[in-house]
Amino acid sequence: MTLFDSPAFEGHEGVHAFFDEKTGLKCIIAVHSTARGPAAGGCRMWPYASAELALEDALRLSRAMSYKNAMADLELGGGKAVIIGDSRTMKTPALFEAFGRAVEDVGGKYWTAEDVGVSPADLMHARRSTRYVAGLTGHAAASGDPSPVTAEGVFRGVKLGVERALGRGLAGVTVAIQGVGHVGGFLAEKLHAAGAKLIVTDVNQDALREIADKTGAQVVAPNMIFDAEADVFAPCALGGAVNADTLPRLRCKVIAGGANNQLSDPEIGRAVYDRGMLYLPDYVINGGGIINVAGEIRALDRTEAFDPNWVAGKLDRLMETLAEVLDRSKAEHRPTHEVANEMAKARITLAAEQKAAA
Ligand code: NAD
Repeated sequence: MTLFDSPAFEGHEGVHAFFDEKTGLKCIIAVHSTARGPAAGGCRMWPYASAELALEDALRLSRAMSYKNAMADLELGGGKAVIIGDSRTMKTPALFEAFGRAVEDVGGKYWTAEDVGVSPADLMHARRSTRYVAGLTGHAAASGDPSPVTAEGVFRGVKLGVERALGRGLAGVTVAIQGVGHVGGFLAEKLHAAGAKLIVTDVNQDALREIADKTGAQVVAPNMIFDAEADVFAPCALGGAVNADTLPRLRCKVIAGGANNQLSDPEIGRAVYDRGMLYLPDYVINGGGIINVAGEIRALDRTEAFDPNWVAGKLDRLMETLAEVLDRSKAEHRPTHEVANEMAKARITLAAEQKAAA
């Protein structure tokens, strides 16, 4: 497989590969689109079995960031960095300084942040070599943990989904949450406060106990969450929660959660729709986190302090966009994920045309 015939290639503007002999850094930065602004997306460190798999991930994830940033109405394009390596054993300050040089080499077309395997502390090292880093701590522009903002968006999305699919408010509605980590934990507390009944699971027993104690949630084993008698299924753990094995077991009317890549493949999205379930597209409902990060990029660019009011305004706008996705899906009798993808692509194309005409 080469770059251009990879199934994950979709008109990416640039793909940059970096090797640093001294630290062993092997990194790929994929810039999918800068039509709406500089590409933004986190850096993932993962022990990919081959460079080919790392490239595919960078291509796929950077394209997803273009869609997510467009739906969040941010003046940002989509990009992603992947570092090939084991984050438990291979991290050094020098490695992340070298990564910072790689980001700097892309010349401001890509802003990096945290993703799987990369922490704010790692990014502080990258920051020594480049200014195009967000998701830091301890300075006026810092945006802090994005999870509460993500969870607030997911909470409002669940509320919207319940209104649309069940014609009622959250009080007395049962929500099954898979994964009560950062996002799922905050979500559980918000839903509990709104009067929803909760069924929760996690592979981490401590997190599970803490949330169950706080919210009175019923606890089930990880594999049993798909059989829960619930109105809403909220995937907040890993990707692929809705797949050919789990979908026939789900009894809910609404699927709305914080996890990325909830549908194992696009065909499952069609099957969800055909079963009469309302799916709130993951990269729209969970866009609060990237809005928070964008608030930091904006503050750094303007040499200003982080402005939570700007973030709140963008989150309100995101919820309007989410409602528009549901409206169009209903009016056009099409699955919500298809409508969202189409809207995201149209926003990117429009920005590219405006840029070309300027
Ligand atoms: P997290 O690691 O804090 O929480 C995930 C939780 O899921 C953990 O408690 C983990 O033990 C649990 N889990 C893992 N496998 C499980 C399984 N098989 N069954 C049940 N529980 C399982 O991560 P997070 O920051 O809360 O993110 C959760 C999801 O939301 C991820 O998919 C992430 O990519 C996505 N997301 C997060 C943010 C954010 O702001 N944190 C923003 C957008 C998207």
